[in-house]
Amino acid sequence: MSDVSVVVPLYNEEQSVAMLQRELADALTGLDYEIIFVDDGSQDKTGARIAANPRTRVLHFEKNAGQSAAIFAGLQAVRSEVAVLIDGDLQNDPADIPRLLAEISRGADLVCGYRARRKDTLLKRITSRVANFVRSRFTRDGVRDTGCTLKAMRRDCIGALVPFKGMHRFIPALVKGAGYRLVEIPVNHRPRRFGQSKYNLGNRALRATVDMFGVRWLLSRRLNYQVRDDSAR
Ligand code: UDP
Ligand code: MG
Repeated sequence: MSDVSVVVPLYNEEQSVAMLQRELADALTGLDYEIIFVDDGSQDKTGARIAANPRTRVLHFEKNAGQSAAIFAGLQAVRSEVAVLIDGDLQNDPADIPRLLAEISRGADLVCGYRARRKDTLLKRITSRVANFVRSRFTRDGVRDTGCTLKAMRRDCIGALVPFKGMHRFIPALVKGAGYRLVEIPVNHRPRRFGQSKYNLGNRALRATVDMFGVRWLLSRRLNYQVRDDSAR
């Protein structure tokens, strides 16, 4: 079993994926790792651009199912004790992964990167800041940048996730709500060099707001019990 499984959601990232694969290999040198690429129904050559090698697994969706679905499916396929999430468009920097893993070794269950210096448009930076502010207070995740995909988690945390569209923005809320320990660390962020963002204000802000109410409700209704199994005595 590998030490770490890196899950990468990919939708039409044909120009980024080969470079990302090289950067990941450099960053993970010395570790026993696997990379799980989830090709979320790309219509371009993303699938063909992934170099086959023993450390690489590729899951293909027939049709585009969304970033949350890609992340969820990838995490279900994880075989290591630790999972890392990273965007497939080179905006996150694989060189940050060892620092995330160090926090796991120090006892964190979920390590969330936050983009200290965002390399996005002004409009995106402003809307993201407002969204993060509202979301972290509303869902009590206490995280300043849930929009940053770069995260590391102990495998147990995966069980706290719920498969709904938009879930990827609420990973810290769901994991923290289940009682796990979260840590945040600053990470590098780079401008998108190739392809396009899959989101705009219209398809992100409204949905994420609606989802926020749902997640708060879900967390307020969490089952809370402790089992004593006498048969084990
Ligand atoms: N993505 C995906 N399916 C989708 C939309 C996005 O797998 O339906 C992937 C995308 O390829 C990228 C990551 O999710 O690796 C983040 O998407 P994007 O860069 O468009 O988001 P942004 O940086 O604008 O927040
Ligand atoms: Mg991006």
